[in-house]
Amino acid sequence: MKALIWGESKETLSEKLLAMGEKAFRATQILEWIYKRRASSFAEMSNLPVALRERLEETFDFEAAKLLTATAAGDDTEKLLLQMRDGALVECVILRAPQVVGDEPRSRKTVCISTQVGCPQGCKFCASGLAGWKRNLETGEIVAQLMTVCRLGAQKGDRGVRDTGFTDFDNIVVMGMGEPLLNYDNTLAALRIANAQWGLGVGGRRITISTSGVVPGIQKLAEEPLGFRLAISLHGASDTVREQIMPVNRKWPLAELLPAAKAFAEKHGRMITFEFILIAGINDSPEQARLLAKIARELHAHVNLIPYNTVEGLEWERPSGNRQMAFLKILQENAVPATLRREKGHNINAACGQLRLKNIKRES
Ligand code: SAH
Ligand code: SF4
Repeated sequence: MKALIWGESKETLSEKLLAMGEKAFRATQILEWIYKRRASSFAEMSNLPVALRERLEETFDFEAAKLLTATAAGDDTEKLLLQMRDGALVECVILRAPQVVGDEPRSRKTVCISTQVGCPQGCKFCASGLAGWKRNLETGEIVAQLMTVCRLGAQKGDRGVRDTGFTDFDNIVVMGMGEPLLNYDNTLAALRIANAQWGLGVGGRRITISTSGVVPGIQKLAEEPLGFRLAISLHGASDTVREQIMPVNRKWPLAELLPAAKAFAEKHGRMITFEFILIAGINDSPEQARLLAKIARELHAHVNLIPYNTVEGLEWERPSGNRQMAFLKILQENAVPATLRREKGHNINAACGQLRLKNIKRES
């Protein structure tokens, strides 16, 4: 298979062009066509010699993915289902948060992207884990999710709040299917393209990576200069509870995960976020809330409580509204900055692997 042009950085593209006997500055021209002028073929690149355009056509694939469906879920969520060149299905979600900019109603657009086909982590509550793991996504396939969102936005004249004229969304969250820190190199390469001035120009603070707790990955990420934000899917405030639902905890228990998280926060001088899904009878007790408060205070972390979304084929359920509020209250009483995600709005998790799972079921 040909290489994906969306997977190339300025450096890798310059090197490849030099190896082809071309001038390195052509890379700048090509990337400008792709990310600033939003070309969708080499044929459009009118300032390149025709012979070079033909060679590029022979060397690279432009399209990494086909958009199969774009489904609105309520007013503020849109789920995209993409098919990769090998047929693999990948989802990507657009989330909108309404805002008023000046006199104009606009919405802040966040894109939630996937990094693997399925997920090897096998968390007991998660549809991505249920579907099993197939492969890592390539850099170009991760960037393809962002480019598809840009194209859709351009078609609809729907840009984000931060309308720079280039980017059509405001934030990126790596919270779709897969464990990003187990596909470290491709994920980071894609985010560098998203971040680069020659690329999509999305600032590091507008990019959040979520991990189930891959400690060596967190340590490596702490050394990256780009300042991406970190979210950790905790879901259990003690080893006993966490182990029950997240097999990763056996490999990296809290005694290893929490110091790595702390070191990350100290290095970056920014608050990290603990994601905590509330599952009835599993992790929603007052005792868990108190333990979580202690952990979060120690790390100066923000806690994002997410009522569990039921997954077809799994018996877990979300606690009652009262129990959710009681859990939140304990965090607040302990001065932990915490939010309880409402049904409406930031319902990222409805996306986590569930769309793909539905399609696989329909096909089989
Ligand atoms: N693998 C990474 C990135 C995916 S993030 C991680 O786990 O952090 C997806 C988030 O949605 C995670 O916090 C995950 O635990 C959560 N999630 C998965 N299934 C869910 C469900 N059914 N209901 C609510 N949250 C869920
Ligand atoms: Fe993978 Fe994250 Fe789902 Fe766990 S919660 S199975 S790590 S996608």
